[in-house]
Amino acid sequence: MSSTDRITGDDVMAWIRLAADVFHGEKEHLTELDSAIGDADHGINMDRGFQAVVAKLPTFPHDDVGAILKGVGMTLMSTVGGASGPLYGSFFLQLGNATAGRADIEVADLAGALDNAVARVQGLGKAEAGDKTMLEALLPAQAALHQAADAGESPSGALRAAAAAAEEGMRSTIPLVARKGRASYLGDRSAGHQDPGATSTHLLLKAAADAWTRA
Ligand code: ADP
Ligand code: MG
Repeated sequence: MSSTDRITGDDVMAWIRLAADVFHGEKEHLTELDSAIGDADHGINMDRGFQAVVAKLPTFPHDDVGAILKGVGMTLMSTVGGASGPLYGSFFLQLGNATAGRADIEVADLAGALDNAVARVQGLGKAEAGDKTMLEALLPAQAALHQAADAGESPSGALRAAAAAAEEGMRSTIPLVARKGRASYLGDRSAGHQDPGATSTHLLLKAAADAWTRA
């Protein structure tokens, strides 16, 4: 297997750095989405959290994928407020637990780690498919990542497939009525708006695909 088939600690760091840039650039957009059906802080939350993560990245070990992901989770947990802080924090903590001590991983390892991470988000938030949350993007991405792993896709190819599935899931939130989180307070009036958390999940996965697309 060639080295480009593996995801190293440096790859994870490149992903997180790019995600931080993307969330910084999309801060207003995410906040605008959250102002329609929430409290207008999702962009601020994600930008604050990922800027804090980037500041801490140099203190994480380059040769331990799990330690980096756990560090990301712990930092998000302590810096991102609202519902999304604990959810994204636990998401990364679980990715890290599943890859602890690994200098590099394969797409199949990431797909397995994502199973743990998505299960944790569901366990914490008690949301299901159709509730108009970040799971609308996460669940199809999880399925797409497993399919890509089975097909022997490269990390960048697999993440492109996962990001495309997440994008479709993100768009599918528009007509949905929210049944979890702040947006659920609006009842039927939450329909007609794209979910901010599903949008940030798509951005997060697209950042991995972009960071891992090697020239
Ligand atoms: P808050 O809603 O506390 O202001 P954010 O605005 O940062 O937090 O995040 C809102 C997003 O969090 C929503 O768009 C939704 O995708 C996600 N979310 C909220 N509650 C849940 C839940 N119970 N399970 C999964 N995701 C959730
Ligand atoms: Mg909010």
